[in-house]
Amino acid sequence: MDIFYNRGIYVVSDRVKFVVDPTGSVGDVDFVLVTHGHSDHVSRQMYRHTVVATRETFSALAVKFGGMPPRRVEVAPGRVLELDGVQIAVFEAGHILGSVMYLVEVDGVQTLFTGDFNTVGSILTEAAEPVGKVDVLVMEATYGDPAYRFPNRAEVYNQLLEVTERVSREGGVAIAAYPLGKAQEVTKLLGARAGVHKSIARYNSALGISSGGGDGVLIVPSVRHAPAGYFKIEVSGWHAVGGAGNGVYGIPLSDHSDYGGLLEFALESSPKLVYTVYGFAERLAGGLRKMGIRAYRIPPPLFI
Ligand SMILES: [Zn+2]
Repeated sequence: MDIFYNRGIYVVSDRVKFVVDPTGSVGDVDFVLVTHGHSDHVSRQMYRHTVVATRETFSALAVKFGGMPPRRVEVAPGRVLELDGVQIAVFEAGHILGSVMYLVEVDGVQTLFTGDFNTVGSILTEAAEPVGKVDVLVMEATYGDPAYRFPNRAEVYNQLLEVTERVSREGGVAIAAYPLGKAQEVTKLLGARAGVHKSIARYNSALGISSGGGDGVLIVPSVRHAPAGYFKIEVSGWHAVGGAGNGVYGIPLSDHSDYGGLLEFALESSPKLVYTVYGFAERLAGGLRKMGIRAYRIPPPLFI
């Protein structure tokens, strides 16, 4: 079995070939596994193949691409299925609504693909939990740098509520949150107090999150969409290492695991091999090697 990254995580064996989270054109594969609907994990070209994803991810894809893949296999956390003779178990990833991890057995090797994951639960998602011992762990490294330590989530929620409440007495408040994921969390947190930008309303309604009417508080896809004169807040894990600047108030709300969460998850999976992907892939692999785990940034294909 060979695993490599080529705008998607490819797994190739004599018996089966599949890709996890392709972002470009998809080669000759038996099926596509999609962990969640963020743009850096999906592509329109995967629609030519059988796509495995959760109901929420298919709904998000319909918003993003104007329709669902014609050949769909709908899954949910806790389910186990067999596709082309390969066993696939599905687990909660805790990243955004409908995000999952896949444990796949190929040639007797158990490989866990985490996609983006969060080991801390939120008001919308359960926490991702280690699934037990695996042979190979292919894990994300978005915040795979020791600088990223996220504060307690309840405290972050309180900070957002408190700042919004205080500032909205003086004037309008715009909260910038990524339209798929963070925006649903902030919508749920603020309830009827906040209105939402139309790009967010589309995802909210596809995912069954009711948007409030808003009274001077608006959730926007980015600070560029803040109405003139509004106080700007941005929620992002990147703000864990310093303020946003440029008149933007940064709040460190992340839908990924922090560095400690990533290390702990890898340790508890007792893998024989770890491949890191996305973000600080090199740095996280180095950190894991220091802990005695065989870890490398996921390799490119041997032959292109
Ligand atoms: Zn993501």
